[in-house]
Amino acid sequence: MAKSVKVAKKAAPAKAVAQAKKAKYVYFFGAKQSEGTVAMKALLGGKGANLADMAGLGLPVPPGFTITTEACAKYYEIGEKALHELIREEVRDALTKLEKATGKTLGCGVNPLLVSVRSGAAASMPGMMDTVLNLGLNPETVEAMIARTNNPRFVWDSYRRFIQMFGNVVLGVEHHDFEHELEAVKHAKGYTLDTELMTEDLKEVVARYMKMVKKVKGCDFPTDAMEQLTLGINAVFGSWNNPRAIKYRALNDIRGLLGTAVNVQAMVFGNSGTNSATGVAFTRDPSTGEHKYFYGEYLINAQGEDVVAGIRTPQQITVKGSREWAKARSVTEAVRKAQYPALEESMPKVFKQLDAIRVKLEQHYKDMQDLEFTIEDGTLYMLQTRNGKRTAAAAVKIATDLVQEKIIDEKAAVLRVDPSQLDQLLHPVFVKSSEAKAKKITVGLPASPGAATGQIVFNAATAELWAKEGKKVILCRIETSPEDIGGMNVAAGILTARGGMTSHAAVVARGMGKCCVSGCGELHISYDKKTISCNKLVLQEGDWISLNGSTGAVYEGKIDSQDPKLTGPFAMIMALADKYRKLGVRTNADTPRDTAKAVEFGAEGIGLCRTEHMFFEGDRITSFRRMILVAETVKNLRAALAACCDAEEKAVLERELAAPLKQYNQALKELLPLQRKDFIGMFKALKGRPCTVRLLDPPLHEFLPQDDAGQAEMAKLMGLSVEAIKQVVDSLHETNPMLGHRGCRLGISYPEVTLMQVRAICEAAAAVKGSQPEIMVPLVGHVKELASQKALIEQTIAEVEKAKKTKLHIKIGTMIEVPRAAITADQIAAEADFFSFGTNDLTQMTCAFSRDDAGKFLGEYVAKGFYDYDPFQVLDQDGVGRLVDIAIKYGRGVKPNLKVGVCGEHGGDPKTVAFCHRLGFTYVSCSPYRVPIARLAAAQAALKG
Ligand code: ADP
Ligand code: MG
Ligand code: MG
Repeated sequence: MAKSVKVAKKAAPAKAVAQAKKAKYVYFFGAKQSEGTVAMKALLGGKGANLADMAGLGLPVPPGFTITTEACAKYYEIGEKALHELIREEVRDALTKLEKATGKTLGCGVNPLLVSVRSGAAASMPGMMDTVLNLGLNPETVEAMIARTNNPRFVWDSYRRFIQMFGNVVLGVEHHDFEHELEAVKHAKGYTLDTELMTEDLKEVVARYMKMVKKVKGCDFPTDAMEQLTLGINAVFGSWNNPRAIKYRALNDIRGLLGTAVNVQAMVFGNSGTNSATGVAFTRDPSTGEHKYFYGEYLINAQGEDVVAGIRTPQQITVKGSREWAKARSVTEAVRKAQYPALEESMPKVFKQLDAIRVKLEQHYKDMQDLEFTIEDGTLYMLQTRNGKRTAAAAVKIATDLVQEKIIDEKAAVLRVDPSQLDQLLHPVFVKSSEAKAKKITVGLPASPGAATGQIVFNAATAELWAKEGKKVILCRIETSPEDIGGMNVAAGILTARGGMTSHAAVVARGMGKCCVSGCGELHISYDKKTISCNKLVLQEGDWISLNGSTGAVYEGKIDSQDPKLTGPFAMIMALADKYRKLGVRTNADTPRDTAKAVEFGAEGIGLCRTEHMFFEGDRITSFRRMILVAETVKNLRAALAACCDAEEKAVLERELAAPLKQYNQALKELLPLQRKDFIGMFKALKGRPCTVRLLDPPLHEFLPQDDAGQAEMAKLMGLSVEAIKQVVDSLHETNPMLGHRGCRLGISYPEVTLMQVRAICEAAAAVKGSQPEIMVPLVGHVKELASQKALIEQTIAEVEKAKKTKLHIKIGTMIEVPRAAITADQIAAEADFFSFGTNDLTQMTCAFSRDDAGKFLGEYVAKGFYDYDPFQVLDQDGVGRLVDIAIKYGRGVKPNLKVGVCGEHGGDPKTVAFCHRLGFTYVSCSPYRVPIARLAAAQAALKG
């Protein structure tokens, strides 16, 4: 991984330096000495603030100091040299304090101080930035430490780790260059495990590392501890802007932070022998949210990153967890106890202490915690705590459990769950019978729940490439590293051969809500041959496999999946959301099936029923095409007839009109009952909920066959020549269809279409008791367009009311999606019962971004920060949003109770939902799967005020 520190930096302007001098850049932490507090997350980063806080709580935290995120911002502003001038004194003072607190000295003396130099921003970005451990080792301190510990193997192992980590992170030497040297020594000795390396071997590894670094970098490995520290601090600051950190922030929408803090902390050693260990734990299960026991993993005689790197198989914290782990892997109790004992068994006293800390920390932070700890010669140290990343299922379960445990209140619970994360819970799981029949290849760890079926790929680049081609892929890796993040993001699922529940793959997949099975020890993955083998089975790149992230099972081939159940904690959090939200949530649906689904997801009605989708199904497209193909002829002949005074000519025209008119009327007659049936189905599925029906919107050419065969078929059906059909198709062609003959313009040109659609709606309403249709006229720019369509609609309503001897209470409104409509909304409101903002078209026309062509440059616009987000996904609040605001004010100025909704993609986007709440919308409308997201986002907006 390349280091990105060496970017050119501006010279420090004298004034900036002088001003900056006043600030405090370094905060000490340690027993009874912490200067920082938990409230200082923005300044100290999450890690630094919590280390200070934990030390304050009296927990065993190795002392250290935090260099602030403001210093990081300065690093980028004034450059590393000027920064160190700025902070040098403070760092030196803090270091002196640290040496005093530990009784050790950095870089020299009989009791050398080693430190870790750790990154940590205000928002947690696990594993994305750099950390260096064991800093301070050099030939002199190595000797002193050996003399002191009488444990040369441990010291040389630490030295070896330090050179490797510092060499990679700070000096930018490739990871594999170190691996190469290490393997050479292991190979020569016939070792397979790192733990087999003896002191002499480690010495050789160190010597080889030194030589290699010198060869690659052209300079000696730095031995001066202060120089090491300065370089380490720079590297951590530099890692704030490494490509994977930038990508992680983009993917997780982390914005507006100053940078990372740097934590310099006294080292404690989990690798100093068999009475030492290191581990990671969660106070509740991050996959499911359960807390039947204490979830975590540890490794004896190891250092921090060994657990997450998946180098050895970690052991469980509790006996209960250990037994479950053993059962899933068919490990017998005897073998488990002997080879993989739980911490509860191997170090019962430390376990007890850790378990008490678990309870204390959860009570303190009122949330599930993700902990790092290290045990040095039987003494426990806490190295980190943070609110743990979790799946949506776990987030919902934990939030509702914490309410029941009276740790947080309902409002806090509603605010705890990220609305966009809910998506994960709404997606399918495997059909049990289909899964039962599938051929199971192996079982790994259930690292992140869900079900995934896809084609095997072996690297992130291929995953991204194939996904772009629309393929569903399963990313298969021996183990993942942060570089794989792009591929992981596009994959349907992730499979790894190595690594535990807290491995990189597992943690990242859970954060993404992506199905992941990790630690499939039986799988042999060959990147060279592009194969996965398991016993006798060999699978190639492109072969299909299926993963069950909830059980860890891996299957050959595809498996059917089904929708999940929406009960339990999910139902509870949704009920709480409904209790606190003010904004209504409707759905965009065109079929009874989607409608039923959306109602199940909590939709309070339909905000957008697109009638054109109804014309595509089955035979209807034929009827609809028939209508379109003669519509223009009928219209022209009728106009000619109306203008004609001569009786003879009139007769000719009438004869000419007869055939096309017959076709036209036939088509409308065929369509009417079909549309009516559609609406009856929708109204029934809605069970009395309102349904906003949009009249025909898209340009007619979209419905016509563009190919010869389709045109020939239509010609035959209608008894016309193919040429005649082709001519109509050509005549309907538009240069810019989005601004062409569409929306209400169609209903104005062909009033019969409006009449037919409205009749179908009214008759369906008369047939289904309690139905509440609302008729919506699309693409209105001028109030007269609406007025003319409204007259037709009202006329039809009256006719049906009379015929059916009933009163229909049908509202008539319009879309606001043309800028002209927005800025004349007062005039339009006079004719409308409601507004529904069609934010897709409104964005397109306000920004002058064609939805079909903007892809070419919009990405760049977002990357350059011209727009914060793709304006077609997140409403452009400053521009389009301002127009919306104006339109609502104008509209409500005329009609204070005017109902206002939004439909279009934006209706399900949490940021847009919050915006709509603030603007006083009546409801948002979105696709069925986003209804729960909108409900929760609306509640959060209401609670945040
Ligand atoms: P990350 O943000 O990637 O978790 P950390 O800064 O937390 O990076 O450190 C990486 C690993 O090194 C963790 O496992 C951590 O517990 C361990 N570690 C960090 N500082 C120390 C220390 N002072 N003593 C022992 N282990 C440490
Ligand atoms: Mg950490
Ligand atoms: Mg539109």
